[in-house]
Amino acid sequence: MTQHEKIVFIMETLERLYPLPAVPLQHRDPFTLLVAVVLSAQTTDVCVNRVTPALFARAATPQAMAAMRVEDIESIIRRCGLAHRKAASLQQLSRLLVERYHGRVPDCMEALESLPGVGRKTASVVLAQAFGQPAFPVDTHIHRLMHRWGLSTGKNVRQTEADCRRLFPRDRWIPLHLQLIRFGREHCPARNHHPQVCPVCSRLL
Ligand code: SF4
Repeated sequence: MTQHEKIVFIMETLERLYPLPAVPLQHRDPFTLLVAVVLSAQTTDVCVNRVTPALFARAATPQAMAAMRVEDIESIIRRCGLAHRKAASLQQLSRLLVERYHGRVPDCMEALESLPGVGRKTASVVLAQAFGQPAFPVDTHIHRLMHRWGLSTGKNVRQTEADCRRLFPRDRWIPLHLQLIRFGREHCPARNHHPQVCPVCSRLL
């Protein structure tokens, strides 16, 4: 298989498995998505979805979140881990959104990355899923898949992201990153994988 054939096969397989990939973090607008993605660091989407209803009942806008005490945010999000750090980031980033951006989430990578607790992956998720901008957030699942499929030798997610952006068509980036994450979670564990029965590797390797 040529590299082009590999890419086409992967996209077709993912499209067949996950024709309408849903955004796994519950949210109602760019701000609540940003909050949910910040909370998702080093925990599961399920855990985040359990705490956000109570958090958004108290504060679903930057103004309301900025007015909350860090300890009160922390007590609501405690089960997600790193609660104090995440609570402080949420309060500070909300304050900055009010002060610098009229209480709106900016649709620009540089501005998003300047907010506390927001790295490139978080900013990319918000750009892709809240604003529909072509971005390719790469997490450990996508990083591992790209290596195992021989499509990247990137030593970190930033380098792997560059390979994803080079190899996959731009107009597929948004659904594709969701499909890849879902496939990675369901089929591509760090250990004990089975290439003979894998929907992709059984044909690819
Ligand atoms: S066989 Fe499946 S689980 Fe293993 S590397 Fe390939 S895609 Fe991942």
